Amino acid sequence: MHLVQRGVLKPQNCVTAQVVCEHVRWQQQDSGGCPPPIRPPPRRPPPICPQIGPPPPCPPPVFIPPCKPPEPVTLYPPFYCCPRTKYQVKWLYINDVPPKTEMKDFVDRMAQTVFWTELIRGFMVTLAHIFKEPATINYPFEKGPLSPRFRGEHALRRYPSGEERCIACKLCEAMCPAQAITIEAEERSDGSRRTTRYDIDLSKCIFCGYCQEACPVDAVVEGPNFEYSTESREELIYNKEKLLMNGDRWEPEIAANIRDNHLYR
Ligand code: SF4
Repeated sequence: MHLVQRGVLKPQNCVTAQVVCEHVRWQQQDSGGCPPPIRPPPRRPPPICPQIGPPPPCPPPVFIPPCKPPEPVTLYPPFYCCPRTKYQVKWLYINDVPPKTEMKDFVDRMAQTVFWTELIRGFMVTLAHIFKEPATINYPFEKGPLSPRFRGEHALRRYPSGEERCIACKLCEAMCPAQAITIEAEERSDGSRRTTRYDIDLSKCIFCGYCQEACPVDAVVEGPNFEYSTESREELIYNKEKLLMNGDRWEPEIAANIRDNHLYR
């Protein structure tokens, strides 16, 4: 039956299986009840070639040392805590050194708790910062410094004569990755080309500064103003009049920023 289950014999060979089962049972009785080990069939020696001769002899067997006996495992009851130091454990302490347990250290810790020394030291840190210069500013009455390369609210600039700079080349409209700029242009009676419409949707704008970089006459710029929050999206669609008004308002700061920034352009 043992061999039938392992697939050595098929169920239809009942007679042969019965004989083999009797043989296995006899072997089990002879070996004290354990089933005999399954050994592979012996290998046949390779045929000897008449021209080459017999094959070379097998190499001598390699000595394999016997396995070490397993180390005895010490079993502790659950939650048993062995008294160990940090040099006896197999991990590293990443925190502070463990608290000392001598009487002097115990008294020190108790004095800290009773006399609130940590609280007093914390108050001393607060008191020390009262006499230092504060890191905060009183916005909006005080404002921090701004880089000349800051990109804030858009503006359209004019020449000192009052003539608007924009020549409607539409390079900013072509460069704008957010497609936030809309320009329409026509020719004036004096033959110059000027815009009739210049809209920027600041709710689309990503303030990349490409329009400012693309402009050949420094007409469209991103000024230093960052305080233009609105209550509706419609207020963030700037038309030409609004942009020119921004330019007039911020011209001194814009001109100073362009002057400071010329080394980078
Ligand atoms: S800053 Fe960039 S996204 Fe904004 S209008 Fe200019 S090109 Fe377009």
